[in-house]
Amino acid sequence: MEISNYLEIKNKLPADVNLLAVSKGFESQKIKIINSQGQNHFGESRSQEALEKQLELKDSKNIKWHFIGRIQSNKIRKIVQNFDYIHSVDSYEKLLKISNVAFQEKKIIQIMLQVKLSDDLAKAGFDYEALLEKWLDLKKCKNVKINGLMTINPKGLSSKENFILFKKCRNLADSLKLPDCSMGMSGDWEQAVEAGATWIRLGSLIFGDRPC
Ligand SMILES: *Cc1c(COP(=O)(O)O)cnc(C)c1O
Repeated sequence: MEISNYLEIKNKLPADVNLLAVSKGFESQKIKIINSQGQNHFGESRSQEALEKQLELKDSKNIKWHFIGRIQSNKIRKIVQNFDYIHSVDSYEKLLKISNVAFQEKKIIQIMLQVKLSDDLAKAGFDYEALLEKWLDLKKCKNVKINGLMTINPKGLSSKENFILFKKCRNLADSLKLPDCSMGMSGDWEQAVEAGATWIRLGSLIFGDRPC
């Protein structure tokens, strides 16, 4: 069995930074190994793949599942039923639907709102103005707890550019009195931590190269 970097990375993190192990593309067996080393929070971005793995891991009761992928409206019920956190809420309509379903399912879902802080056409997310404009309506939604903001930086930025965008996310969260920022992946997590991330989302750095 190959040795993962999990403990080495975990030990480098400040105590107030939470690690989300992004297991999309990796088998349940690998999740089990990292879970046995003390990791309880796992992130998935494709609902079908996640549901299959959750079934295989149903005896691992301490796992908290985070949905971090693009949300299709017709998958919202399954996501609400099977996840504890959703990091990728990018519109008011989706939050409202999550809220209604969570109410029916008698669950409270932990939410991060995804924000888009640069002109990256490939990425989803609220733009700054849209978020502020919808803020009061977003806050009114029941059975969802908005804990913070999530962002994904475009690829290929310098360390400094990454830091500047992450700082923008931190400042926006602070201005809305939101404690959490879910930001930083395998290639840019150090700048995210420096800018004030409270959740970093690491896949390949922990699990190795993604097979699919
Ligand atoms: C895949 C993914 C990650 C992890 O990416 P790595 O580069 O493997 O660390 C983090 N966040 C989101 C939203 C992802 O889809």
